[in-house]
Amino acid sequence: MDLYSGHINKLIEELAALPGIGSKSAQRLAFYLINMPQDRVKRLADSILEAKENVRYCRECYTLTDNEICPVCANKKRDHKTIMVVENTRDLAAYEKTGRYEGVYHVLHGAISPMLGIGPGDIKLKELIERLEGDVKEVIIATNSSLEGETTAMYISKMIKPTGIRVTRIASGVPVGGDLEYIDEVTLLRALEGRVEL
Ligand code: ZN
Repeated sequence: MDLYSGHINKLIEELAALPGIGSKSAQRLAFYLINMPQDRVKRLADSILEAKENVRYCRECYTLTDNEICPVCANKKRDHKTIMVVENTRDLAAYEKTGRYEGVYHVLHGAISPMLGIGPGDIKLKELIERLEGDVKEVIIATNSSLEGETTAMYISKMIKPTGIRVTRIASGVPVGGDLEYIDEVTLLRALEGRVEL
């Protein structure tokens, strides 16, 4: 027997499909949304659609941005010869928040995970190689210290080594399995400063 109307069930189903939202949270959110004033619901729905329609990958670093080129890549004062490779835009934001990193980034949008069937071709690795044909002095690998992050770091290191470009990995001050976005700025900076040659 269905306890709720079909419309509510559909909303709960859609919400529960989002990451980090279990069925209980999905139900709570669904009822919260239904009880919200119509104009707020419309604002929320519009902001989702507008973000989806207008946000795209930066042409250089592949982070998510409103413009063709993101603010970091567009900034001439940044050191464009140093590229920090991160798994996602949230990790980029974490390093940007420290305000101390002067290079640019490359966003992979994932990490290699044989268990989940994510291979090198499924993340922005080919795009990284293409960037290395330009004037690059160092690639800093700042993927997470999870199994997937380490696998990806090793893969990138092997890929870049033959080019002669310096490859470093952020120090292991970042706890194992820790997501970069949850780590405080001091730890992030220490990890960056203590980076090791690969
Ligand atoms: Zn960019």
